[in-house]
Amino acid sequence: MEYEVVIGMETHIELDTASKMFCRCSAQFFGAEPNTHVCPVCLGMPGALPVINKRAVEYAMMVGLALNCKIARYTFWERKSYWYPDLPKGYQISQYQYPLCYDGWIEVDVRDVTGGWQEHAERRRIRIRRAHLEEDTGKLTHAGSYSYVDYNRSGVPLLEIVTEPDIRSADEAYAYLSALQQIVRYLGVSSGDMEKGAMRCEPNLSLRPKGSAEFGVKVEIKNLNSLRAVRDAIAYEIERQTRILRSGGRIQQVTLGWDETRRVTTVQREKESAHDYRYFPEPDLPPLHIDEAWLAEVRARVPELALARQDRYRRDYGLSAYDAVQLTAERAIAEWFEEALSASPSNADLRARAKALANWIQTELFRLMRANNMSLAEVRRAKIQPAQLAQLIELVEQSVINQNTAKQVFEEAFHSGADPRAIVEAKGLAQISDVDALRAVVNEVVAAHPQQVQQVISGQEKVFGFLVGQVMKATRGKANAQMVNQLLREVIEEAKRAQA
Ligand SMILES: [Zn+2]
Repeated sequence: MEYEVVIGMETHIELDTASKMFCRCSAQFFGAEPNTHVCPVCLGMPGALPVINKRAVEYAMMVGLALNCKIARYTFWERKSYWYPDLPKGYQISQYQYPLCYDGWIEVDVRDVTGGWQEHAERRRIRIRRAHLEEDTGKLTHAGSYSYVDYNRSGVPLLEIVTEPDIRSADEAYAYLSALQQIVRYLGVSSGDMEKGAMRCEPNLSLRPKGSAEFGVKVEIKNLNSLRAVRDAIAYEIERQTRILRSGGRIQQVTLGWDETRRVTTVQREKESAHDYRYFPEPDLPPLHIDEAWLAEVRARVPELALARQDRYRRDYGLSAYDAVQLTAERAIAEWFEEALSASPSNADLRARAKALANWIQTELFRLMRANNMSLAEVRRAKIQPAQLAQLIELVEQSVINQNTAKQVFEEAFHSGADPRAIVEAKGLAQISDVDALRAVVNEVVAAHPQQVQQVISGQEKVFGFLVGQVMKATRGKANAQMVNQLLREVIEEAKRAQA
């Protein structure tokens, strides 16, 4: 029998605010000594009163808007009660009845690139059930017979995003999470870093006979520290459960963990009775009213996102899916590209210009950034600027310099931040396009290599390249390559006719 997997995803994202959700403690605690970013509020001392972090609410609204959610105009905070040592108050302030964001959707491109790049992708829409704000817990570390608790993370703003069970494969789960990660990074509201715990996800998954409308027995997977781990764990579970169901077995309702070294899921908890969290309104915080003006102000801060930019680049500039994906991988790259494109002269062929920019950015710019271990933000500060790359491409288009010289000029502009035009002038790099001067060099080369000329005449085309190379060498790489090709052909044709 054929089985189909049904996956829902619950994701927690730490919002990158300066202070915590309900107190003034710094939320930027990565690498800090344990329990140094704490106060009576986030330690849950009796009598300490919480205050809402406005920025966190706005960040959550931005994510909600980017996920096409409705934004609640009225919501209030609730206490979710449970006892655990990482939760000092004995309850977590959260939103239950009225999540801040609800009824949204996200579009993702599902592309299996494990065997190399696939130009075609299947576009899937995954519905978002809700996204609500809450506070993070502290962190427990177990060593030997001791357990340690660090409350630096306690009270950090946390956004919980829950999908409908719309995900149908491990690749789709991967695509969903990478899209979500890219969105929070585009918005600048979270690092989305799974390795550092800034983004944590728990897929729940079940199998059912293909075509069936009922859900099968659901398992949850925890301890997933990377996008790849999510994909691998889900793929493993689909295979394991299919095997059990095919042999007539039954799936246990459990919570699983992913063992990265052994690459298997392991049972963490057997089925538990449903929790009764005894939610009740938080009496220490006022309800939240969001008016149209505030919402409009926040909406204006949501930039055009990666997928929309990809579609636009392909439609308006004829770029390939590959180029569009690379250029929109980060917001900073997309903005760099667009700035360089808009610096092009008004009469330029935008499609050709976009393709040239895409090539320069993906080869030379990325190569030099990697070699110098530099981010695009650092390049912005002191290195080559978008308008300068536009200028360089123009110099090539106008045949002032050839492609090889352009690479040298790019490297120099990358390091110095100088204008390409100024570099070409200062170093005398402009290419030789004077017909008479070039013809003289071509004649010299032909005279000096009679044997090679003979080989070309007898049909050995490869040798033609050698002769071009000799002319380039004689002009220190500055000859107009197209003209050299043409002149060399003419001279060899002449020699051939003379022989016949
Ligand atoms: Zn605090």
